[in-house]
Amino acid sequence: MHPDHEVAVVGGGFSGIGAAIALTKAGIEEFVVIEEGDGVGGAWHWNTYPGVGVDIPSFSYQFSYEQRSDWSRTYAPGTELKAYAESLVDDYGLRPKVRLNTRITSARFDEEHDLWHLATGEGDELTARHVIGATGVLTQPKPPAIAGLEDFQGETVHTARWDHALALAGKRVAVIGTGASAVQLIPSIAPEVRALTVFQRTPIWCLPKLDKPLPGLLRSALARVPGAKWALRAVSQSYVELTFPIAAHYAGVLPLPKAGEAIARRHLRQQVQDPQLRAKLTPAYSLGCKRPSFSNAYLRAFNRANVALETTPIERVTATGVRTADGTEHPVDVLVLATGFKVFEAGNMPPFPVTGAGGGDLDGFWRENRFQAYQGVSVPGFPNFFSILGPYGYNGASYFTLIENQMRHITRCLLRARDQQATRVEVTEAANARFFDEVLSRRGNQVFFQGSCGASNSYYFDVNGDVPFRPASTLEAAWRSGHFDLDDYRFTGADRPAAALIASETASPS
Ligand code: NAP
Repeated sequence: MHPDHEVAVVGGGFSGIGAAIALTKAGIEEFVVIEEGDGVGGAWHWNTYPGVGVDIPSFSYQFSYEQRSDWSRTYAPGTELKAYAESLVDDYGLRPKVRLNTRITSARFDEEHDLWHLATGEGDELTARHVIGATGVLTQPKPPAIAGLEDFQGETVHTARWDHALALAGKRVAVIGTGASAVQLIPSIAPEVRALTVFQRTPIWCLPKLDKPLPGLLRSALARVPGAKWALRAVSQSYVELTFPIAAHYAGVLPLPKAGEAIARRHLRQQVQDPQLRAKLTPAYSLGCKRPSFSNAYLRAFNRANVALETTPIERVTATGVRTADGTEHPVDVLVLATGFKVFEAGNMPPFPVTGAGGGDLDGFWRENRFQAYQGVSVPGFPNFFSILGPYGYNGASYFTLIENQMRHITRCLLRARDQQATRVEVTEAANARFFDEVLSRRGNQVFFQGSCGASNSYYFDVNGDVPFRPASTLEAAWRSGHFDLDDYRFTGADRPAAALIASETASPS
């Protein structure tokens, strides 16, 4: 049986686009990119709420091989990221290989033919020798578990599915949640609404943001001066590395979270004068336990006369607003759910059932064995299935670095398979176990396990109390993606007739 594609990339966000570019560069041209939405860009296609933008500097939040010189600001707005995604698809000739409006509903490994059957929401099916899961993690909006949401007679919107027909001017608006999305949304809508009530369950650490427009002179220097983009990127990468991977994974030896907290407290003092308000906005957990935010406008938005911070727990949503546990009714016209996404939970990585060799189910494997994946890419029992953002893949730096590293790993496997005419590539149990032991052994220094995260209510922690982030620097992850022992994988199936067929039909001209 001949598969429809050598590789199916599931997801058309930056992971899927980066995967497609890496495959093309490696001479693996016979692939398809399948995307549920009606456009590419992933998070930047779906998240269009007022104020959306990056909070990793743009010099790092882009592919190293496709650095732009025309970002409008040090932290680009979401529209520029969406445009960047579109331009990559055009510049690398990917458009004909992208299948939009197609949701994968299940993936099943066919042991007889060493290929994957991918069922789509339209009821058809496609087959691929290999699958690259590029569905991201922060993609499935999570409504809050609050009683009465369906009773609300006003308008309800989730930040990740913003309705641009929604008029907020002059309305009484409630925002539930104070994560990174709310931090960007709140100051953006506060000036136009009549009244804004922010329902905060857990305060977020908010750091100053070095967000500045990039002057035309600098942009033309970046475009023209040899090495300028790389120099700026080096500074930016160092800043990103220090503020998350190093701070989080080496907290036991370097007191960077404490230093960050001091900066955040000073920022709060400068932005909010009312000590009671400041107290409510001050987290009771260590910086790094949950994702911090960066904003120069969020905290001071609470000084506005039309903005109220409500910390009494929500009892229920009613037909006309929100009732808090103290019995107060908060009348609301528009309810904004800034309540985030499914993260480290079943049904999200990827958001469809995956049945591997021997009928094993991926969520079931993780339920029984805890989240784990060899270098965040492969799981034993799931041959020819590679993830960009598997457990212990992401170390907290820019997603673009992660995508490049993971694709270096994956293309090495695919090229070895091609060389050996192997139809099945599977990570060994031993290699996976060794990697899992290693990540667990490094926990001691991570901020998550220093005993100060109790009050954080952080989505970083899964049901087992694990934090499936890669406890490594970006340099280490990059080096290992290019140097791991390929014998950590079994390459088999070369003796099958199907192997010769796919290998001869897809062999690169070189
Ligand atoms: P989030 O960080 O998960 O925040 C969700 C918020 O909703 C939290 O404050 C949470 O409170 C609150 N919440 C959830 N259920 C609730 C309930 N039943 N009652 C009251 N409050 C409730 O989601 P997000 O802000 O959308 O951000 C998700 C992630 O997306 C970020 O961490 C970040 O990685 C990414 N993001 C990035 C950017 C950027 O780069 N610029 C922007 C936006 C988002 P608790 O904290 O108590 O759970």
